[in-house]
Formats: sequence, structure tokens, C-alpha cells
Amino acid sequence: MSKRWAIILAVCGLVVGWALEPVVAAKGKGGVKQPVLTEAESRDLLFLREEEKLAHDVYATLHAEYGRRIFENISESESRHMEAVLGLLGTYGLDDPALDFGLFANEELQTLFDALVASGLGSELDALMAGALIEEVDIEDLAEAMARTDKADILNVYTNLVAGSENHLRAFVRNIEAITGESYTAQVLPQEEVDAILGR
Ligand code: MN
Ligand code: MN
Repeated sequence: MSKRWAIILAVCGLVVGWALEPVVAAKGKGGVKQPVLTEAESRDLLFLREEEKLAHDVYATLHAEYGRRIFENISESESRHMEAVLGLLGTYGLDDPALDFGLFANEELQTLFDALVASGLGSELDALMAGALIEEVDIEDLAEAMARTDKADILNVYTNLVAGSENHLRAFVRNIEAITGESYTAQVLPQEEVDAILGR
């Protein structure tokens, strides 16, 4: 083989190899594209899928009890949040942990669900306070999850979920203050953070 042919073949080999490599590298088992998550990213996605379900199931339960529109509207919004996280579970090949209504794979969330429903059924004010508590916890958990990922698609969903939670918190606080006539006291987040969300 002449030196010139050897060079041409070597260049072709490099070009073909370069062209094929990203395709091969991006394909995991079964040829399905599956980017890799860290342990923390997986844990957060699985947890947040159920946390959004907790919000949905609590609000649906409270709407059935009180027939108050705020619970229906916000439970529908939580369904969309659940869907958004489910989409990410699909992207990253994780199995959906969501169980039937009122049931949770994560024990911490099961305990929280039971406690929130029990307190929410005390009175309408208790129900609204349970709602505000859920939203504060959600905002805190989402902020922590956002600090543990740099993936744009995940951050995009989390950013939307935080915006949703802030809207929900404002709505619950409006309803709470209409009943109590007093300004809302933060339950989990620092008061300054809640005041900033409320535009105070
Ligand atoms: Mn939500
Ligand atoms: Mn919410």
C-alpha cells in the first residue's frame, strides 16, 4: 500500500469512527438512549414524583370534604406536576413509584399524608393551613433537589414546579388570611422567604 493510500484510509477510519462513536455511546441497553443520572438525581426524581402525588391526593381529599374550589383547582395543577416528573422518569428509564390514591412507597410521605389529611379534616382553616404547609415543604425540597443537579431538562421542570408551588402558597395564604384576619406565619420556610414569595 502506498503511503498516500495509507493516509487516506487512516483519515477515513478516523472520520467514520468519529461519526459513529457518539451514536454508539448514546445507546444503552436495547439501543434506547438513556443518559445517566447520579444517585442523588434519581432519588430526588422518585421522591418528587410522590411528593407531587401527596399534594394532589391531599387536595382531592380536602375538596371532597369541603367542596372548596381552591382544592380542586390546585389538585388539577398537581396532576400536571406529577405528569411533568413522570416524563423525566421516562427519559431516564426509572420505574414510576406512584401507587394508588392515598398510598405512598416512601414511608416518610405516607406518614405525612396521613397526618395532613387528619389535620385538614379538622376545619376549613386547618385544611388551608395543611395546604400552605405542603407548598412550603415542596418549595424547600425542590430548592434542595435543584442544588443536586445540573441537567437542563430536570432544572427546567423543577423551576416550573417551584413557580407552581409559589402560586399555590399565595392562594392558600389569601384564603387563610380572609378567615383569620391576621397575616400568615410561615410554617417551615424562613418568614422572610415566605414574605418575599407573598410580595411583602
Ligand atoms: Mn406541585
Ligand atoms: Mn402545589
